Amino acid sequence: MPERLPAIALLATGGTIAGAQSEDAAHAYRAGAVPVGQLLAAVPGLERLARIQAEQVANVGSQNMTHAVWAELARRIEALCRDPAVDGIVVTHGTDTLEETAYFLSLVIRHDKPLVLVGAMRPATAPGADGPANLFHAVALAGNAAARGRGPLVVMNEDIHYAREVQKVACAGVNAFASPNRGRAGVMRGSAASFFSRNDTLHSTASAFSLQALEAAGWPRVDVVHAGVGLDGELVDFLAARSRGIVLAGVGDGNATDLALRALQRAAGAGVAVVRASRTGSGRVARNVEVDDDALGFIAAGELSPQKARILLMLGLSLTQDPAALQDFFDRY
Ligand code: ASP
Repeated sequence: MPERLPAIALLATGGTIAGAQSEDAAHAYRAGAVPVGQLLAAVPGLERLARIQAEQVANVGSQNMTHAVWAELARRIEALCRDPAVDGIVVTHGTDTLEETAYFLSLVIRHDKPLVLVGAMRPATAPGADGPANLFHAVALAGNAAARGRGPLVVMNEDIHYAREVQKVACAGVNAFASPNRGRAGVMRGSAASFFSRNDTLHSTASAFSLQALEAAGWPRVDVVHAGVGLDGELVDFLAARSRGIVLAGVGDGNATDLALRALQRAAGAGVAVVRASRTGSGRVARNVEVDDDALGFIAAGELSPQKARILLMLGLSLTQDPAALQDFFDRY
């Protein structure tokens, strides 16, 4: 046992990890019903792992996560990063948008203190709830110096993921998270962490982005269009009049019907930033493979999922409108 237990700040935001089942049906539950003190009390051995100070930042199902809560969360995390009495930070979060919050934080929190996001697939009151084990691992990881400098980490089901890589890949079951492109960052075994890889993409202290610039730019509006058979240009035309950026959740290699691509070309011509991502869940969308990005004025999302491409584009648009400069962000973050 370490001589001095690490000091961990825990920020609770809600989600299934804090969810309570209704009495009528075992599968029905309300996210964000259980307060953070009760969550912590359900984890055996936590008091031997760390000194924990918990705060409730929000208590929502993460389908209702908002930019306003992100701003509040980021500000609180920044303050805790500056506090030398805090060794690490844990954020409890719903699983639906966990990957989005983790990626957002990786781009705006310019510190290297361990920051771990965690959720649960089963409500706190369910038999075999996974929240207590996930929370145990998250607290252990946040108190581990090996977590420093890797950007926000996500711990679920004993796996450690980098914020940029992690995706919710199943809507049920405890094994719902994966890092399809580059693989998991590592694993937890009890309170010990083993890392398999480094995080070589730009994040945290190397990030060019900030909450301040994003707020000054008014959180540029970016929408996602999901491609499929028969997609016409109407939705794109509608968005082009409202949005600063459009992310195409394209078929295959970030592709779409000729009609949709023509509408996207019109949007790009009118100054809307157009990013091509893939709806497939993995792989790398590269420039000018099937779609002539140079001619059409598009940006290729690389490995980012459509939902993460939306976040990077929003942050990118807080600094520049130039498609070449935006492409450079997608190549490096
Ligand atoms: N809808 C819930 C949420 O994201 C699901 C979960 O936490 O697993 O908050």
